Amino acid sequence: MARVFNFSAGPAVLPESVLQQAAAEMLDWHGSGMSVMEMSHRGEEFMSIHAEAQQDLRELLAVPANYRVLFLQGGAIAENAIVPMNMLRGRKVADYVNTGEWSKKSIKEAGKYCSVNVAASSEDKRFTYIPPQQSWKLSKDAGYVHICTNETIGGLEYHWVPDTGAVPLVADMSSHILSRPLDVAKYGLIYGGAQKNIGPAGLTLVIVRDDLIGQAAQFTPSAFDYKQQADADSMFNTPATYAIYIAGLVFKWVKQQGGLAEIERRNIAKAKLIYDYLDQSKFFVSPVAPSDRSRMNVPFKLANEALDDEFLAGAKANGMVQLKGHRSVGGMRASIYNAMPIEGVRQLVAYMRDFEGKFGK
Ligand code: PMP
Repeated sequence: MARVFNFSAGPAVLPESVLQQAAAEMLDWHGSGMSVMEMSHRGEEFMSIHAEAQQDLRELLAVPANYRVLFLQGGAIAENAIVPMNMLRGRKVADYVNTGEWSKKSIKEAGKYCSVNVAASSEDKRFTYIPPQQSWKLSKDAGYVHICTNETIGGLEYHWVPDTGAVPLVADMSSHILSRPLDVAKYGLIYGGAQKNIGPAGLTLVIVRDDLIGQAAQFTPSAFDYKQQADADSMFNTPATYAIYIAGLVFKWVKQQGGLAEIERRNIAKAKLIYDYLDQSKFFVSPVAPSDRSRMNVPFKLANEALDDEFLAGAKANGMVQLKGHRSVGGMRASIYNAMPIEGVRQLVAYMRDFEGKFGK
């Protein structure tokens, strides 16, 4: 068996020990005689898996008692609609900060449900920075302020938490949740698809302050009403059982690594290896402002685009895959989530150095 270094933006690399445990438990979970996939979501076995996953996640993120943790479906793109349905709470306006492709999608979808005020945008410089809070033009009567804390395509990350006063801050954290400690209390709602740092696609995580739920718009489908899901412990409809099981194994893995402080330390070290190389290179360029660079998704360009295919083919031949940048921006992108070992990043940087030596004349 040969495993590659997988730099995919998501679905993405998972810890090998988690995959091995899932394989070992595939036919018979803990003597139940069943695969987790075959279990009733209301049976005692799955209920225990679900409760433990919730508890481990609450511990990892130190989720305060007045927040609900929901395991839903539909992905972050569905949340783009579900958030306004639930979070406007009778108000007509929501503030959005536009930092890239994922913010743009959120803004477009929210426009179906409310008047969107784009409070700040970095589109003027092709989404290469996060607008500082002093430049934001927030509205007085917004239901919430929405940000994307890690732009997976552009490679931008908030390394600070905006202060929106009494207006709830809502964050799409799909591509960096669990990569660093998080002060949940500074947010009204946090959401994300699971398929980067959490587990398989199909599970959507929502963490919401409990006083903000229960005021969904009348037309909200019941399965998308946070209050109904919270009251049913995320089982108003059948949840993504197998994805929740794998997520639970990943939460245990993160705890075994030493929790989020240790995970963050490793992520800083991995990101530094690659950005340090990019900054001294005369051949590869990082387009993002150094203070706003993502630790999870590192976009970069070759000085000569004509060599892109050669770069990718050589990487693949050396066991490194999924380095092609998103089609909307081109170039390359290395996604280095929690489960990417530092050896993978070292190997990538060594390959880039060789490539530059050969072609960067
Ligand atoms: N937001 C961000 C930041 C993402 O990275 C992604 C997926 N790459 C999405 C939203 C959309 O997620 P999904 O396709 O699971 O709905």
